[in-house]
Amino acid sequence: MGTPDNLRAATPADVMSSADTDIPHDENVHGVEFTPVPRRSVMSSASASPLTLMAVHAHPDDESTSTGGILAHYALRGVRTIVVTCTDGDLGDGPGGVKPGGDGHDPREVAAIRQGELRRACEHLGVSDLELLDYHDSGMAQWGLQQRENAFCSVPVEHAANRIAQLIERYQPQVVVTYDPHSTRHPDHVQAARVTTYAVDAGHVVAKLYYKANGSVYWQRLYRALAEVGIQWSAPSGEMLRMLESVDQRITTTVDVSQVVDRKRAALHAHASQIDSSLAGKLPASQFAYAFSTESYIRARGLTAASAPEGDLFSGLGHGLQLR
Ligand SMILES: [Zn+2]
Repeated sequence: MGTPDNLRAATPADVMSSADTDIPHDENVHGVEFTPVPRRSVMSSASASPLTLMAVHAHPDDESTSTGGILAHYALRGVRTIVVTCTDGDLGDGPGGVKPGGDGHDPREVAAIRQGELRRACEHLGVSDLELLDYHDSGMAQWGLQQRENAFCSVPVEHAANRIAQLIERYQPQVVVTYDPHSTRHPDHVQAARVTTYAVDAGHVVAKLYYKANGSVYWQRLYRALAEVGIQWSAPSGEMLRMLESVDQRITTTVDVSQVVDRKRAALHAHASQIDSSLAGKLPASQFAYAFSTESYIRARGLTAASAPEGDLFSGLGHGLQLR
């Protein structure tokens, strides 16, 4: 998130992040040793190219909060995983939780800190390659910073999409994942979804494009997990309920990531500078596992004959992934 999609106060939208301070950097969340994910490529029987998953995100920490489960899940199965982070997250929280524009908030320093955290998070998730596009964080719409030079949401879609297209050409991912442009509100998330969709549509290379779907089950589990640790939310608004209903109707794919949920939590906590304003960061391991052991997606484009609902982003590609 960087600049959280919503959830700063009591409105949900981009759960996991909102960050301020320093929860101590937790390399080893609740005593589990995280060993590097072994590298062994699984080949697609159709193309004889390595199975590859690319996740396109707006800010450092979104890879963990949004798609950390599938990144770790597929890395564990030998799939090559690529994270593309579009902005430097320089409007995230500064040291001590200081907000952009506050005393001691140096955007360049924030960006440098967050890049280091992003790299550590990717290690937890077994990410094969990290690509940084280095646009600037646009901030939330009401911050009025979207017109500053190189702010991601103000970059022409075709320009940014061309850079994504070049990465698709280089890595040849069969599956690409980004945000759902219809249910995310952060300008950078919307822009990431637009440019990714544009690049996929222009290239005709990617077999399946997915949008991350945070539907009613996601929020119900999160509300319940937070309530167990004493964090109460007011009931969702009518607008929120209509949005959730729309998301629920479009979900095609739910992946069980329970086996790697500890890795996802460790990756989230690697973003130590942002963790204080993260609601998900306040969940102990057991509640975190309850809330985040599945990830749901909307199949937005598909060139395979895979049916829906499905439990595997690579279904229809003839791979037969097995956990080693
Ligand atoms: Zn974000």
